Amino acid sequence: MKKRRALVTGCAGFLGSHLVVRLLQEGFSVVGVDNLITGTKRNIEQIEGDFRFLELDVTTGLWLEEDFDRIYHFASPASPADYIQYPIQTLKVGALGTHNVLGLAKACGGRVLLASTSEVYGDPEISPQTEDYWGHVNPIGPRGVYDEAKRFAEAMVMAYHRVHGVETRIARIFNTYGPRMRRNDGRVVPTFIDQILRGEPLTVHGDGKQTRSFTYVDDTIDGIFRLMEFENSERAFLPVNIGSSDEKTLLELAALVARLAGRDYEIRYCPLPVDDPKVRRPDITRAREWLGWEPRVTLEEGLRRTIAWFRGRSPF
Ligand code: UDP
Repeated sequence: MKKRRALVTGCAGFLGSHLVVRLLQEGFSVVGVDNLITGTKRNIEQIEGDFRFLELDVTTGLWLEEDFDRIYHFASPASPADYIQYPIQTLKVGALGTHNVLGLAKACGGRVLLASTSEVYGDPEISPQTEDYWGHVNPIGPRGVYDEAKRFAEAMVMAYHRVHGVETRIARIFNTYGPRMRRNDGRVVPTFIDQILRGEPLTVHGDGKQTRSFTYVDDTIDGIFRLMEFENSERAFLPVNIGSSDEKTLLELAALVARLAGRDYEIRYCPLPVDDPKVRRPDITRAREWLGWEPRVTLEEGLRRTIAWFRGRSPF
């Protein structure tokens, strides 16, 4: 059988680099592209096998002269600190980048999966969030650049599906953590791990009672891969939440990170960022029923692995 070919945009990022590894294990020939504004070559330089990296910016065009069976669109700044630092690039990659990716898919007949996000639900008024909830997003707040870029991207994906018959998938990815996150990327798990290992206080935003549900990266990648390969012309193009139902407050997370690192800890309370969602937890009935997927790695086990990885890399 001919080897299947996959393209991963944002391949040098946290999720993109894990996805490349999984696709190689699945027997794909993989091309990865990244403009390296938040991704790093370090994430991919160890990858061996049928993988080729091209440094390019998908917002300016994607003329690859190659056909792909599967196109995973993961290029975007994804941590709040990053997308607030790169607001225009974030809007462009969600809008123009998605348009270019869909143009390539239309030209080569490939299937596209969009890495969407729980941020499309904004600061949700219902919990858990089901895929048919339309969200509660402030378009002009600092997070709006990411939330609206991804909402636009979803709309564009649906338009290409409806108008051009492109095969499409939309994964709404919830908070994911694991090895290869940047220690300073601003997201809470690498921040707390970095702080605890350095013996610094843990910076909790607000009163720490806001909640998130954290998924270990291998589980997230497995859900994404299953969604891409899900065959069902009636519903496979609809959005699917990929995330854990194990909801924790930030104070619970802080205590858990400290216990697993075997350290005492102090908390330094900081102001809550504008529009920081108060709760977040996916309803994963769709993923369970359609994909036979749910997370397997507990938060405790996933944090242990992540702490071990950070310890192995950094001068602690
Ligand atoms: N947060 C925190 N301390 C930090 C970094 C983040 O308390 O040093 C909080 C943040 O305000 C949010 C939650 O942790 O309530 C998750 O933030 P993250 O940036 O990881 O992603 P988000 O879920 O907001 O996209």
